[in-house]
Amino acid sequence: MKIIDVKCAVIGSNPVVRIKTDEGIDGYGQAEAYKPYLKPFVLFYKDALLGQDPTNVERVMNRIRNMASFKPWGSAVSSIEMALWDIAGKAAGVPVYKLLGGKVRDRVRVYNGAVRFKLSDYTPDGFADIMQKMKDSPERFSIIKQGIAFHGGMMERFPDFFYGDFNQGYRYPNRGLLTEKGFKHILECIEAMKAVLGDEVGLALDCGPGWTVPDAMRLAKAVESMHIAWLEDMITGDYTPYVLADVYRDITHSTTTPIHTGEQIYLRQNFRELIETHAVNIIGPDPADMGGIAELKWVAEYADLHGIMMAPHGTGDGLLGLAALVQVCAALPGNYIAFEYPTGDPAWWYDIVDGLPNPIVKDSYIEVWDRPGMGVNLIPDKAAAYLTDDDKDFFD
Ligand SMILES: [Mg+2]
Repeated sequence: MKIIDVKCAVIGSNPVVRIKTDEGIDGYGQAEAYKPYLKPFVLFYKDALLGQDPTNVERVMNRIRNMASFKPWGSAVSSIEMALWDIAGKAAGVPVYKLLGGKVRDRVRVYNGAVRFKLSDYTPDGFADIMQKMKDSPERFSIIKQGIAFHGGMMERFPDFFYGDFNQGYRYPNRGLLTEKGFKHILECIEAMKAVLGDEVGLALDCGPGWTVPDAMRLAKAVESMHIAWLEDMITGDYTPYVLADVYRDITHSTTTPIHTGEQIYLRQNFRELIETHAVNIIGPDPADMGGIAELKWVAEYADLHGIMMAPHGTGDGLLGLAALVQVCAALPGNYIAFEYPTGDPAWWYDIVDGLPNPIVKDSYIEVWDRPGMGVNLIPDKAAAYLTDDDKDFFD
């Protein structure tokens, strides 16, 4: 089998990759909705892919993997990898999880990072209100993640939140020591969320990046009695092009509260220090950023050997990304907690793919399906209506 074309369309705001083969089998992959600018980066790899046998996934990946980096620049390579596995599964007539070692579980747990409600204000009452709505949502999520502090709008709206000067700019330009008032405000908001969730639903907190070490230690210690699921990305994380594993280690070893990071990290090599030095308790690679689903499987196995758990990121990965997450998470070892459930946005996404269960999530779980490849496909007749003029030939 040979690759004869590589296409990319921006559908809604998700870049979607389509790899065509000479045997009439197509593979699809999808990158985060936050990256509509990726199309030229996907097409950059086309010449290296044409003529290759897509079922030799690793051999093909060796041709392109080095020409990418941390989030957002690993997304094009990652979505190509997903499309290759989709083809490999379809060609073999098996679901992708069979090619990744087989199913470890029949259903995969998801956590909520995408089913959102409007936050009226960044006060304890505001957070309690959205937490109640998320707790009541029909997916019955068993873990809900909420942005606080430097992740989200809290720092802009709360006066004298930290000692630094507030910067506008691309993602997360702010960091610094919190004021005592700012710190207490964060704590009050967390207490209000916990009062709603009780011990029925786990609370994970996406915190940064932007924290200093003493504040990170203070927060982790202050919430120890609250049984927080994890504190995410305090030092580095979302869109930070480096790791600082040794700094994380100081925090993690000072507390019983689980510390989490890793959504921006590209490739297994860049997880090595984090894992080998036990610098965090949980890692959250995103298969649409880290280099793909086989990369995620490999890192999860290595993390498991070191007592580190997995809560893969995925909020913007769309419905084809959801399928990829289901396939790989079905094959992860026992250190798997849950992956971050992506929604279709806009809602017409649910009309243009087939193969998803309805409802998708029941009691915070998704049943793993058994169709070949990723098991979820774009419906060309329906999806064509959402192609821009630039992408009209996507299904040709
Ligand atoms: Mg995050």
